[in-house]
Amino acid sequence: MIFALICLIAKSSLMCQTTVLSQNDNITIAQCNNCKVLNIWRAGVLMNFSFDQFEVFYQSTKKLSFDDYLENRPDGKEVVILSTPLPDISLVFTRYEWEEFFHKVDEALYMRRIYEMVHF
Ligand SMILES: [Zn+2]
Repeated sequence: MIFALICLIAKSSLMCQTTVLSQNDNITIAQCNNCKVLNIWRAGVLMNFSFDQFEVFYQSTKKLSFDDYLENRPDGKEVVILSTPLPDISLVFTRYEWEEFFHKVDEALYMRRIYEMVHF
């Protein structure tokens, strides 16, 4: 049900033309038009998606309601945990982080559409 794609790759960025799509103190979402890759930088985690993978990720997570997937962290805080293709690594979101994350993803997709209109 909950689905996320994550790749942990140390890759050269020499050829990259990175465009920042959305950003705040905690999250940066950028894309490289050379690699056709979208990156989400978030609290020590770098998520790399192909454009197609990102679409799948977005479609499968955007309608998830935080309250439907609540779990409790050992300290009692309510969180949602997204699994990744790496079975021992999950992404954890507090309610605030969840809302912030998808707000930034929406903003990034909006900016992508703007850039596509401008550049193509
Ligand atoms: Zn690149």
